[in-house]
Amino acid sequence: MSKGLFLLWGGVLASLALLALLILISLSPPEISSKTLTYFERAQVEKGQTYAQVRYISFAVGQAITILVLSAVVILLFHRGWVPLAGASPYLQVMIYSFLLFVLLAAVSLPLEFYRGFMLEHRFGFSTQGLGAWFVDYGKGFIVNTVLTVVMFAGLYLVLRTWPLHWPLVGAGAFVLFLALQAWLWPLFIDPLFHKFEPLSPGPFKDRVVELAAGAGIEVGDVLVMDASRQTTKVNAYFTGVGQTKRIVFYDNLLRDFSQREAELVVAHEIGHWKHHHITLGMLLGTGGALLFFLLYRLVLAGYGAPAGHPATVPLLLLFMTVFSLLLMPVQNTVSRAFERQADRTSIELTGDAAGAAAMSANLATRNLADVQPHPFIRGLFFTHPPTVERIAAFEELAGRE
Ligand SMILES: [Zn+2]
Repeated sequence: MSKGLFLLWGGVLASLALLALLILISLSPPEISSKTLTYFERAQVEKGQTYAQVRYISFAVGQAITILVLSAVVILLFHRGWVPLAGASPYLQVMIYSFLLFVLLAAVSLPLEFYRGFMLEHRFGFSTQGLGAWFVDYGKGFIVNTVLTVVMFAGLYLVLRTWPLHWPLVGAGAFVLFLALQAWLWPLFIDPLFHKFEPLSPGPFKDRVVELAAGAGIEVGDVLVMDASRQTTKVNAYFTGVGQTKRIVFYDNLLRDFSQREAELVVAHEIGHWKHHHITLGMLLGTGGALLFFLLYRLVLAGYGAPAGHPATVPLLLLFMTVFSLLLMPVQNTVSRAFERQADRTSIELTGDAAGAAAMSANLATRNLADVQPHPFIRGLFFTHPPTVERIAAFEELAGRE
């Protein structure tokens, strides 16, 4: 077996093994430690474990279905030689193939998406949406994703066909441009398709936000409130955008149900991300990941003796992309957790309130029914943030030093 084939099918098998292991581990949640019980009621932790368990297993099943379907397409069509659409330009073919694959994958995963996105969220009392509203959002998400992916594939094949030798390098360069453009434009054109954003009204809280940002030497961009309550009772805040579109976004639920002190701690954390340039760093790391991906994909193509820019390689590319992203998830999330710890430390430098931050983390976890003390395997694979118990312990350590 050639190196390329070994890479692809070895990756497929490794992914399926990883997903099987994920299901196996999710079936028996870890013992709740005495430390966890000093912060949370047992019933609360168990409810969070049940909610998490269903999500982990449905993620694993969804990914396995995607990988198996794409593998079948590659074996059935690619191995036998896909007859190109006569007369159509190669780019049109790429767009048609990626569109059809997207529709196929959406169709097989719709029942699971519905279960996870609608039924589960209702069962645990998070969703505030009726069936119709959920489907409208799902449909919009599907259209946005499909259009973006199809356009991205056409762009990628332009690179593959124009630079038959140096496409991994050019492709990684194009990818960073794409990421930057996306980070810049997403808040302007895509987010408003799903939510309404209002500027934070002037008042003591707004003044405090500006003051906190000044403390970190940062000029604050927009501070916006999003109508998250239209979809969910969960609370959250995030920062997004680059340059002119840089902004902090609050869920309206958070501002409504949490104290100003707690909201300030959230802002201070988001400012921490700004201060340490986490969006830019994330884009640079993403570009490194893309370069690695393209170099490995070149081996896969060589294994098949396929020219990189041939439209029939679309399912092969999509399969290898899926497997690569899954296997790289632990690396990506390790970086993300480091960023989150850094933002947490900055939030304490700015507010001086480590005890308040510990209490707020607990409050947030209770409200969102977080898996506060996950199995180490699950933590490594999934957790973009340090698990709550770990986060509280870090805050308490900082509080002890004050
Ligand atoms: Zn964060």
